[in-house]
Amino acid sequence: MKKIIIANWKMSPSSLKEAESIFAKVRSKAAKLRGVETVIAPPFIYLPLLKSRGRIKLAAQDVAQNDDGPWTGEISAKMLKGVGATYAIIGHSERRELGESDDIIREKLYQSLSRGIKSILCVGEKEKSQEAFPHIVREQIKKALKGTPRYFASKIIIAYEPVWAISSHSKGRADTPQNFFEMSIFIRRTVLDVWGKSAALRLPIIYGGSVNTKNAKGFLEIKGGAGILVGKASLDAKEFNKILEIANSI
Ligand code: PEP
Repeated sequence: MKKIIIANWKMSPSSLKEAESIFAKVRSKAAKLRGVETVIAPPFIYLPLLKSRGRIKLAAQDVAQNDDGPWTGEISAKMLKGVGATYAIIGHSERRELGESDDIIREKLYQSLSRGIKSILCVGEKEKSQEAFPHIVREQIKKALKGTPRYFASKIIIAYEPVWAISSHSKGRADTPQNFFEMSIFIRRTVLDVWGKSAALRLPIIYGGSVNTKNAKGFLEIKGGAGILVGKASLDAKEFNKILEIANSI
């Protein structure tokens, strides 16, 4: 199975020229690696402009909760599909921080899946000290999947991203591969309760939070882990390409 490596560029870089430059460097590396599914999630406006995609797949960082209608500032899954988004990130903690509820996330997930977009559902607890964090993650998954038809199961990836581990967080430090391993079992168990064994067994589960060239291997070697979601380090083409090489070698 190919490792899934997703670059979340967030609200960077600040110019199209820089975006094209990072993209071109990553594209030429990705072209040589057969063991990796390389996905880049740039800001919306760069999506249709990053041409000659080669082996790179594009992802949207968000999707509107409605498919059409008078929603100023929103971008629908249909539009995103039309400009080449194969994937979409749904329910990122930075969106949740802006007020996105579990209900909104569920609707966004549904819109994205309905348009045939592979959807990366982000879940994760806010504080490291939260004792009940597996329960929090379980609730996030159950609420997002509630009412989502099981036939969409093969189009979903779950990204476990503890918020405290994200590099922009005040204490941002990567989680341990061991904890990711335990959480991946727990997440699979939750999906089993919702959708049954076959969906749970096939579900790709990835880790995100302060991944870099030093710690990527540990997360990529986890049995049952399907890849990683990389934020800050993905904006440095050299560093990201090194992560791709590490993934390819596993
Ligand atoms: C993210 O926010 O999705 C993320 C993984 O960020 P970082 O790698 O910068 O922690």
